[in-house]
Amino acid sequence: MDADVIVIGAGLAGLQAARTLQEEGLTVTVLEGAGEVGGRVRTDRVDGFLVDRGFQILNPAYPAVRDFIDVPALRLQRFGVGVVVRNGRGLTTLAHPLRHPRLLPETLRSGYVTPGEVFALARWLAPTLIRETASSRATDDMTLAAALDAAGVTGPLRRNVLDTFLSGVLADASGTTSANFVRLLLRAFAFGAPGLPAQGMQALPEQMAAQLNRAPLTELRVTTVRDTGGGVEVETDAGVMGGRMAVVAAGPVEAAELTGMTAPAMNGLTTWWFSAPESPLGQKFLLLDASGPAGGPAGPVVHAAVVSEAAPSYAPAGRHLVEATTLLDSKGGGADEAAVRRDLERMYGTSVTVWELIARHEIPRTLPAQPPPLIDRRTQRVGDHVFVAGDHRDTASINGALTSGDRAARAVAGLLRGPNQA
Ligand SMILES: Cc1cc2nc3c(=O)[nH]c(=O)nc-3n(C[C@H](O)[C@H](O)[C@H](O)COP(=O)(O)OP(=O)(O)OC[C@H]3O[C@@H](n4cnc5c(N)ncnc54)[C@H](O)[C@@H]3O)c2cc1C
Repeated sequence: MDADVIVIGAGLAGLQAARTLQEEGLTVTVLEGAGEVGGRVRTDRVDGFLVDRGFQILNPAYPAVRDFIDVPALRLQRFGVGVVVRNGRGLTTLAHPLRHPRLLPETLRSGYVTPGEVFALARWLAPTLIRETASSRATDDMTLAAALDAAGVTGPLRRNVLDTFLSGVLADASGTTSANFVRLLLRAFAFGAPGLPAQGMQALPEQMAAQLNRAPLTELRVTTVRDTGGGVEVETDAGVMGGRMAVVAAGPVEAAELTGMTAPAMNGLTTWWFSAPESPLGQKFLLLDASGPAGGPAGPVVHAAVVSEAAPSYAPAGRHLVEATTLLDSKGGGADEAAVRRDLERMYGTSVTVWELIARHEIPRTLPAQPPPLIDRRTQRVGDHVFVAGDHRDTASINGALTSGDRAARAVAGLLRGPNQA
């Protein structure tokens, strides 16, 4: 049966587009080539562990998550808002003062919190903290590194903590990401305590898919999208399908291949997942390394976490799940297991010989690069009857994917209703 709209891709953008189109009273067919919904948000079960396809977390403070996701139903298991830092002296904790007031003395003693730098950081963030959109447009944008330099965030907080933390979040250690985008991300960290759903990150797209009247067809890879003038023809490996409009939500590179638009550069990372018999650190925080010569990591690991301390459902009884993340740029690109284990041993201060590597996800297409100027509402119409949606059309995040899917669907619904019925 033909649908009003064919959505290509059942990642977060495609699923949100389908939900909004359905709410607008349109019939939707979602075509997905990967066998399951979720796109970059997938979870595997390995030896009784929940292992996401690349470590990521859900921040409930994202505006689109608040708008579109039933967060309580996901039973989010929260991480601490802060980090533990390994340096030459040992381990020290920096935590959000309002969420972890008991850790305030330790945070102040950490050596990373100097009044001048904290004030400079607060002044740089203030416009975005006060109003979500205040700095989210192209105006006055520059690279993250240039913006922090200009703001005077140049001390130990930057050198030992912020640069490393952000390189893991952005999958990019070059400092060339849009400063305005980073301010939006930091706003979400200031107001939200991110976590992992009890059933793994894939519970998020599964919740969305369950609300569709027509289940996504998950074994259909699209090879061509044709604008016929009066509608669209979508060719799959199982035949041709017709519709009035199409939303291509196939991920940044695949969407470009299907529509002829230019693909963005992609940042990549590798997540290493270990099963450990004991928790090496009874903390729900990310662990960063600040023992390198320049103040950042001494090896390839940009962050590690005992995931099961924050999310007990991720490990079977009596075991713990530890993640370590390395970047696919020049420094971390060639990291091998031995180098990762050396880092983990040093960072946690314990032998990791008995830890078992249970999964390794190398993901070259983790996130589209988001250089300045930030354009967080990119054009989505690429033909009379074809729209594109995804994190590459908004911000490189879960929030961006959801927002973009909704925005494309509203535009499509508006066109299908026609000027007289809008
Ligand atoms: C390791 C990792 C860590 C991350 N960490 C975070 C984080 O902590 N916070 C955050 O906000 N974001 C994070 N992200 C980013 C976030 O997951 C993505 O921005 C978001 O999931 C993108 O959704 P999307 O729908 O735009 O694209 P995708 O998820 O890429 O979905 C595209 C879908 O289209 C399908 N498809 C492709 N080609 C075809 C075709 N020809 N025919 C049919 N189907 C096709 C694909 O199989 C896929 O299911 C992370 C991503 C990764 C990979």
